[in-house]
Amino acid sequence: MPGPKLDPKTTAQWARVRGFLRSEVGDASYRSWLKPVTLVEVNDGFVKVAVPTRFMRDWVVSHYGDRIRELWQQENTDIENIEILVQTPTTRALKRPADVNLFVQGGGAKAPLQKEIGKTRSEISAPIDPRFNFNNFVVGKPNELAHAAARRVADSDSAPFNPLFLYGGVGLGKTHLMHAIANHTLQKFPDRRVVYLSAEKFMFYFIRALRFKDTVTFKEHFRSVDLLMIDDVQFINGKEATQEEFFHTFNDLVDNNRQVVISADKSPLDLEGMEERLRSRLGWGLVADIHATSFELRLGILEVKIERLGLEIPIKVKEFLAHRITSNVRELEGALNRVVAHAELVGREITLETCQEVLHDILRANDRRVTIEEIQKRVSEHFNIRVADMHSARRARAVARPRQVAMYLSKQLTSRSLPEIGRKFGGRDHTTVMHAVKKVEELRHIDSAFCEDVDLLRRMLEG
Ligand code: ADP
Ligand code: MG
Repeated sequence: MPGPKLDPKTTAQWARVRGFLRSEVGDASYRSWLKPVTLVEVNDGFVKVAVPTRFMRDWVVSHYGDRIRELWQQENTDIENIEILVQTPTTRALKRPADVNLFVQGGGAKAPLQKEIGKTRSEISAPIDPRFNFNNFVVGKPNELAHAAARRVADSDSAPFNPLFLYGGVGLGKTHLMHAIANHTLQKFPDRRVVYLSAEKFMFYFIRALRFKDTVTFKEHFRSVDLLMIDDVQFINGKEATQEEFFHTFNDLVDNNRQVVISADKSPLDLEGMEERLRSRLGWGLVADIHATSFELRLGILEVKIERLGLEIPIKVKEFLAHRITSNVRELEGALNRVVAHAELVGREITLETCQEVLHDILRANDRRVTIEEIQKRVSEHFNIRVADMHSARRARAVARPRQVAMYLSKQLTSRSLPEIGRKFGGRDHTTVMHAVKKVEELRHIDSAFCEDVDLLRRMLEG
């Protein structure tokens, strides 16, 4: 909201700054991080802007701060500094009951408000869940492509890539994105026929149609659909007749320029038990994978959920959760709900200690599962050497140092013993590993660039 000191000229300058930022960082990041930034005032060479949370402030400062200043300086050479304030929107969370409910549900508090969506929904579709929308999907590096593609599909009048194939591990937001596409599409184009269903349901309907010799109606049904979304197609494996039908239905829709969105836990090429031609057909459009969450994304998701719950939770606790619950977003949500529910029940504040207590089982399951092989692979990639050099006898610094880093990380991140680690590095002695660990620790103290490298690798491996 413009403050009292904003004149039209300033407002126009701000709009241009935002426009540049948007085209530079892309829609997804812009929406997540920059759109919520509001201009407070411009005065005496100072630009004051505000963001809703501390986390966002830190993020905006570290990722976009310099660029925002440069862009402002282009507009107005008097500008010297940008100040980014945190202004908590106290009431904002309450205006969106559906969103709020998303987060209390797991704690067993209130039932979610059901908003009836469109008569345009075919009876074959599973219900579209209004709680999953683009507004509450947090975007970060691991999911930005999938998110951007989903948005594009939801915003377009014609099928921009067909099919859109979303894939990624369990609990990383595939279903959320599909519902978001449906919700957005129905809002923007209320007359569209949108069908969302699981691959299992799809099979069930098809087999039923076969049994009642009614495949014609079945096909007709799908032919009239504008947007067909089939979730978890890895479950279509093996059933030949269904695959055949799926293939034809699919081709039909695509040929008629109807949008198809598919999700799976693997890429089309890796879908086992699926006919070759179907696999390759599925990869013709845009294949967007959702990677495992990063620490930043997990923290961002927590921030958003906590803010929507209207809660205050110490940053230490949030960092702890983001650091330790790494498996997927569903578990992260579950953990947060549990902590919140516990605190409410016993009427105590949320602290690191209570967190550890309440979540001990989840924490154990999430404990470092990174393998030495992964560490070797990541470290080799990072230093641009061959993985084989992790095992080789070469002693050149260019390979010996990365090897030591990998040994150090193996010690830090796995529960392997020194001799075990040595064996994985071409049968080296445990004293070699010990030496490597010491050496890396030493270097970390004296070489800050090296230290950053190691920390980055560590974070990537943990995330
Ligand atoms: P998948 O279908 O990939 O197994 P879901 O879409 O069911 O995963 O996501 C699991 C849970 O995590 C859902 O409650 C979803 O809202 C939440 N979630 C996943 N990714 C995000 C994200 N980027 N931002 C907000 N919530 C997310
Ligand atoms: Mg799913």
